[in-house]
Amino acid sequence: MLSIRDLHVSYGGTRAVEGIDLDVGAGETVLLIGANGAGKSSLINAVIGLVRTARGRVTFEGRDIAGLPSDARARCGIGYSPEGRRVFPSMSVKDNVLSGAVRLAPREQARRWEGLVDSFPFLAERQAQAAGELSGGQQQLVAIARAMSGGPKLLLLDEPFLGLAPVWIRQISAAVQRMRDEGIAVLMTEQMARPALRIAQVGHVMRSGQIRRSGRTEEIRGAALAEEYL
Ligand code: ATP
Repeated sequence: MLSIRDLHVSYGGTRAVEGIDLDVGAGETVLLIGANGAGKSSLINAVIGLVRTARGRVTFEGRDIAGLPSDARARCGIGYSPEGRRVFPSMSVKDNVLSGAVRLAPREQARRWEGLVDSFPFLAERQAQAAGELSGGQQQLVAIARAMSGGPKLLLLDEPFLGLAPVWIRQISAAVQRMRDEGIAVLMTEQMARPALRIAQVGHVMRSGQIRRSGRTEEIRGAALAEEYL
């Protein structure tokens, strides 16, 4: 579904991503594990079109998307939840979530909202509240729910567990597993190897802009856990 070949990303003289090959199959959850500065966000941002690639190819469902702006990539079916808690603080929780679904018909939006409330029950309780008033964990969930609300075929999650209490990590993990059951592909980055290894099938260990180890999650578990402590 997603195919990345020989991807390079640089910021001036800093080489953030150096020659990465990576595939995400339909319905597959792929994990990119790495310490701070490994280049994980740069790779995700290159897929969604927020940074320019210096070299390489990104194809989605067989189509070269490297030249497309990020809103066009979203329309192709790529959902994106950035690192950190990026909500619209003065907008209500429900409007924040549905801002990811503006292209859908109202009935479809209502269906999406119900599905997301099933995954994250607090959304219903807090739907009218300004998102900026929520706890950090809840804001993170709102951002993830927004990325899911557009009905993506591929979901990009950049460090979804960052700074979250176990209770929220469990909810996000369950929602990602539910997405997989629905056939949605996920590419997620994490520094926290343990909970991430539980939900992904395939993992890549990234360091200094390169992939050092790849395999089924059970095969790379040791290397991923070692990376967590770097
Ligand atoms: P983190 O978890 O800290 O976000 P990461 O694995 O996502 O780490 P990136 O954010 O992709 O890593 O950073 C990779 C490298 O690129 C780092 O050396 C970082 O300092 C550098 N970098 C990232 N963004 C920029 C930018 N906008 N300008 C200059 N250098 C950058």
